[in-house]
This record gives sequence, structure tokens and C-alpha cells, in this order.
Amino acid sequence: MTDFAPLLIADRRQLATILYKVTKSGFDAWLKDLPQRARTAVSVARFKGEPGSVVILPGDKVDEWNAAAGVSEEGNPWDLAAAAQKLPEGMYRLAAQGEPGEAALGWLLAQHRFDTYRSAPKPEAARILLTTDIASIDETVRLAHAVAMVRDMVDTPSADMGPAELQGAAQALATANRATCRITRGDALLAGFPMIHAVGRAAARHREPRLIELEWGDPSHPRIALIGKGVCFDSGGLDIKPSSGMLLMKKDMGGAAHALALARLVMESHLPVRLHMLVPAVENAISADAFRPGDILKSRKGLHVEIGNTDAEGRLILADAITLACESEKAKLPELVIDFATLTGAARVALGPDLPALFTNDDALADALLAAGGSIGDPLWRLPLWAPYSDMLKSDVADVNNAGSGGFAGSITAALFLERFVASGVAWAHLDTFAWNPAAKAGRPKGGEALGLRAAWTMLKRRFAPPG
Ligand SMILES: [Zn+2]
Repeated sequence: MTDFAPLLIADRRQLATILYKVTKSGFDAWLKDLPQRARTAVSVARFKGEPGSVVILPGDKVDEWNAAAGVSEEGNPWDLAAAAQKLPEGMYRLAAQGEPGEAALGWLLAQHRFDTYRSAPKPEAARILLTTDIASIDETVRLAHAVAMVRDMVDTPSADMGPAELQGAAQALATANRATCRITRGDALLAGFPMIHAVGRAAARHREPRLIELEWGDPSHPRIALIGKGVCFDSGGLDIKPSSGMLLMKKDMGGAAHALALARLVMESHLPVRLHMLVPAVENAISADAFRPGDILKSRKGLHVEIGNTDAEGRLILADAITLACESEKAKLPELVIDFATLTGAARVALGPDLPALFTNDDALADALLAAGGSIGDPLWRLPLWAPYSDMLKSDVADVNNAGSGGFAGSITAALFLERFVASGVAWAHLDTFAWNPAAKAGRPKGGEALGLRAAWTMLKRRFAPPG
């Protein structure tokens, strides 16, 4: 894992290269003040302040130079990402006492590499950014580590990222932050978490299904639950996926990675909450004892669930986890339950890869999450818990079917299914996220990605962090 701390450091007037941030609209005014030799370099490089473009400017002496990076008009976290990828190794200071602000995050993440599986990883040049906003350094570095953790976990092949490895990641976090980790594994799930067991039992001989729980914080603080779907590989089960649909299914534990990373931010930042993190971790495999279409599972909540499709397994394991999260601890319901899940292809059809679908039973929570995401460049889009569509989840023989009929509104019916397991009076948000970049952008390589993580963290901070 890349150590980001050395890449964003306090400005103590060290010798550094000046880096100009230039927008397209500010380009002409900026160019006008440059000496002729620098204007020539700009012209040769065809630099016009286009976001993502970079140019080297000759300085007064032979070995002296500055640089400019084209950035967006409105500002976003990725403004300096291309510069951090393209500029030579060295130390940089923004021109005219400029502060990197949120773009410091993109600067750091642009230098993250996932090279666990390269036999000869290239030694990477370190581009160091100076900032006088010293108070923000720790938070930015923490955020970069949390995002990189999601990326690395999702990018790790399923063979090396099973339920046991998710458990290991939770236990490492627990040790580092003095939290308690509780594991309910294998046949021990039968008593309390029958749907987690049913989904994971086909793989149990080589990877036991489990519920991973982490508890942290002062019990007198507001109780929040973070839940992540940990399907470490999703073959689809007996309703097997075609190879095209299975190709990326190592990323079906992306929700779990988000929950772990968010729990890490909560703990490392000492947010005054009582944290309960839950990750149901399974592999949805195929064997003689795989659960079947037409089977009826009795959930932790007592609802009987008819299996319409074994590939709609994420909602089953989440349902038992949500039920537990909502069970009152000393008669105190959680103030907030948030789940992250790579749940439906329908959410991607509706919103594409970049926008996690947000579902919630609480309008104030929706507003807070949307505002938080919008303000830090981690957007969400709200979709409705449209109650009449519950009819699509009707079962002829049981309380509910796990697969919506008719093929419409698949992400909504998935969310409506989960809502059945949320205790009344509990504010709940469900993020149906892709956890993946299908194409590389500056600072965001193709592969695993945290989408919705920073929005949720910003909302939690605004709600629970003490002022000042
Ligand atoms: Zn599935």
C-alpha cells in the first residue's frame, strides 16, 4: 500500500517548483504575465488550460523551471491528478500562495499503484505537494488511504480476497483501533443468520461463509451501523451468470470494502459514535448443496423468502445483517443504518458507473447525503422506494420473493426487499454502487473504486463531529 503521508507535507518554505493552476477562462490573463520564453513553451506544448493538461515553463536560469496544470473552472478533487501523474519527481508549491484544497486528494491518489501482482514493479517517482493548510493534511491522507484500501481490496482477485481475507481486514482494523471483532462462521450461522448460511454453504468446504462484526466507541454515543455486501465471488449460483456477467465478479465484495473503509475513517478520526460494522461474507458458488431456485429460506427476521433467482443473493445476506443491526441494544435503536452493495445491474443501466443509487426512508438523510456528496465531488443520485412496486416481490407460497418479477425497476425492487428488514423508526440509507471504474481517468485508474464512500463520510462528519 502506498504511503501517502510523505506526499503532502507542510510548507516551510522548502525549495520547490512553482505550479500554476490555470483554467481555460483564466488562460489569457495568466499567459500575458509570463516572460516570452515561457509563453513560447506554452505555445509549443499547445497548452490552453484544458483540464488534465500540463506544461513545463523554463525559468530564469538554465536548470530552473516551473509548471502549469490545466484545471476545471468549478474545482474538483481530480484537478491536480494529471499533474501528479505527469510531472517529474520533485517538490511542488502552488503559485501565489494557492492552496490545493480538495485537489490534494487527487494529487495523492494519482500516485497510488496496485502492483501486488507485478513481478517487477516500477519504482515510482514521488511528487510532493506543499501546503500551508497544515490542519487538513491528516484528514486528506486518511481519506487517500481509505480510498486506496477500497481500490486494492476490489482489485485483488477473488482467490486472494475471500471471506477469510475480509475477516482478516476487519481484524486488522479492530487491532489498530482497539475495536472488538466478532465472527459467526459456518454452521454457527444456522441459528441466527440462516440466509447468510444458505447463500454461502455451497462454498463452505473451502471458504466458510461468515458474519463479520466490529464494534467500537463509547456505548453512550449515538449508535450507527455500517453494512457492506461481501460476496467474494458471485458465479450467480445455480442461476449461473454468463461469462461476460461473471468476469468482474471479484468486485462483488465492493460494498464490504466500502463499509470497512468507512469504519476505518470513523475510528481513525475518533468520531463520537458507537459504531457497529457488519459484513456478511460469502462466496456464491455452485455445488450439490447450493441453494436452489424455488427454495424457501426463513430469514433472521422470521420472514420466509422464496428464491426466485439465486443470483439475487446479495439482498439475502444483507437482509440478515440489517435485521441484526436494527435489533435494539439495551432498548436503543440505531440512529442510522447505512449499507453499501454492488447490488444490481439495473442501477447501472439507470445511472451508469459513476453514480451510486441512493435509497433511503428518511428525506433529511437523503438531503444530507446528496449535499455532502455534491460538495466534495462524490455524487450520489436518489431513486425512490416506490411502494407499489412491492407487488413485483410477491411470492405465491412465501412472504416475499427475492427476485422482482417483470424485469422492471430492478434496483428499486432490490431496495424494497431490503426495506422489509429495516426496523420501523430506523433511518436507513442503501447505496447501490458499482465500486469500479470501467475506464481510466486522471487519478482514477481502471479497476476498483470507492464511490459513495467520501459522501457518506462527509455526511457522518457533519452530523456527528463536534464543532471546531
Ligand atoms: Zn448475484
